[in-house]
Amino acid sequence: MSEILRGLTRDGSASILVINSTDIVNEAIRIHKTSPTATAALGRVLTVTSLMGTTLKDKGNSISVNFRGDGAGGHILAVSDYMGNVRGYIQNPSADLPLNSRGKLDVGGLVGRGTLNVIKDIGEKEPYVGITNITSGEIAEDIAVYYAESEQIPTVCALGVLVAPDGSCSAAGGVIIQLLPFAAEDTVLAIEKNASELSEISRLFAQGLSDRQIADKALAGIDYDVFDTITVSYRCTCSRKRVGRALLSLSPYELFNILAAEKVMKVNCQFCDREYSFDGADIEKLREEKKREDEEKDSEKKSGDN
Ligand SMILES: [Zn+2]
Repeated sequence: MSEILRGLTRDGSASILVINSTDIVNEAIRIHKTSPTATAALGRVLTVTSLMGTTLKDKGNSISVNFRGDGAGGHILAVSDYMGNVRGYIQNPSADLPLNSRGKLDVGGLVGRGTLNVIKDIGEKEPYVGITNITSGEIAEDIAVYYAESEQIPTVCALGVLVAPDGSCSAAGGVIIQLLPFAAEDTVLAIEKNASELSEISRLFAQGLSDRQIADKALAGIDYDVFDTITVSYRCTCSRKRVGRALLSLSPYELFNILAAEKVMKVNCQFCDREYSFDGADIEKLREEKKREDEEKDSEKKSGDN
């Protein structure tokens, strides 16, 4: 379990979100067996996506953060619900790189250059899609650029994942501070000044600092109130039905060939690695079920049109 603190400066100039995501990152390591650099990259994306999820308004809303870079790690995707529960994967979990020139895990190199796609499903017909270029691939900077360019929200973002020599995550966490319209200049200057304190945020969590103590550093000299704290975790929402439906997107010819060769089709969920197996009769059942549901939807639509 991880905890997110949500707060607001008393003058209404800025909001703050803080998470200690160590447990989420360790669950990702367990599922995806990531290399140290892949752990840092995926861990940072999971951490920030969880925070971004808590800015959604309604139950059923979700947000997908997709780094589509050309680095050795391949694409990284994380999805969060509106309460900050998050799941994700990295295309090449075993990809690794030497430490960068500053002696740090080379997340920017592993991610590479490309685009950052943020998709918000907020229950409307079309989801909101924001696309920006990946600036450094270090994740936090890219997210700040996304907010500035795509949502016009000045944002301070700090993310960190500390990987122990045994490959586990010893500490991980993140902070997002966002300015609200008509922010007071003094508050903005103080936030900018404090931001350097957050440059080694995973070390602060490793030293045992709480979310509250991190918020105190980020907002030193500024009065603020804690709005609430919420408990979040790495959580997958896959089901046999959902995985089966994805299989139906293969052509009948492809399905027939696979079943002819293997008798049983095994599919692993890309987020939690749970295995689902389907034989020919299962596929037939899925197909009929989908047909029935499509017909029902059609007749509902028709009666709605009348
Ligand atoms: Zn799953």
